[in-house]
Amino acid sequence: MKGKLNLYGLSLIFFATLLLAFTSCADKAQDEFVLELDLFGAQVEVPPATKSFPNVNQKLWPYFESFERAGKERGLNFNLAEENISGDIDFIEEGEYWGSCTTSADGSMSIIIDNEFWNASNDGYKELIIFHELAHCYLGKEHNDEQFSNGVCKSIMRSSNAHCLDNYTVNTRSYYLNELFGL
Ligand SMILES: [Zn+2]
Repeated sequence: MKGKLNLYGLSLIFFATLLLAFTSCADKAQDEFVLELDLFGAQVEVPPATKSFPNVNQKLWPYFESFERAGKERGLNFNLAEENISGDIDFIEEGEYWGSCTTSADGSMSIIIDNEFWNASNDGYKELIIFHELAHCYLGKEHNDEQFSNGVCKSIMRSSNAHCLDNYTVNTRSYYLNELFGL
């Protein structure tokens, strides 16, 4: 009986602490959200392109279209085919980089994806890096190396210096895309 009372007492302390945690951080609900590491999540698959993008390597078309679709699902209408964006897969000398996006003075944007990365990657990684580069150039997004308390990256805009864990799967994709498009 004594044991039970102690357990009850402990439960009270636990709930009191929990209540305190909730009441004191009620305005920081967003910060308390932790994206779980989705180790066994299914890989993201990107369907074939149904439209073309001038000056963009045909292999990148499905991902450009996927970017447009992801924006549209969030109420943002992009038409990348009408933008001055070129894209190609090429050798990038700095081994650390998988992709780059350069904006020129005339407003044109040029995305390069490293061919070694391309050949070694699945759809999800390709989408992640192309979305990352499009977000730099087209959405003007900067790097974000923040991580959750479990080490998972908060954004696909992590830099190559970040120490967080990539976690882009079918289950986490909508979180990352909401974050990317500022929702
Ligand atoms: Zn970057």
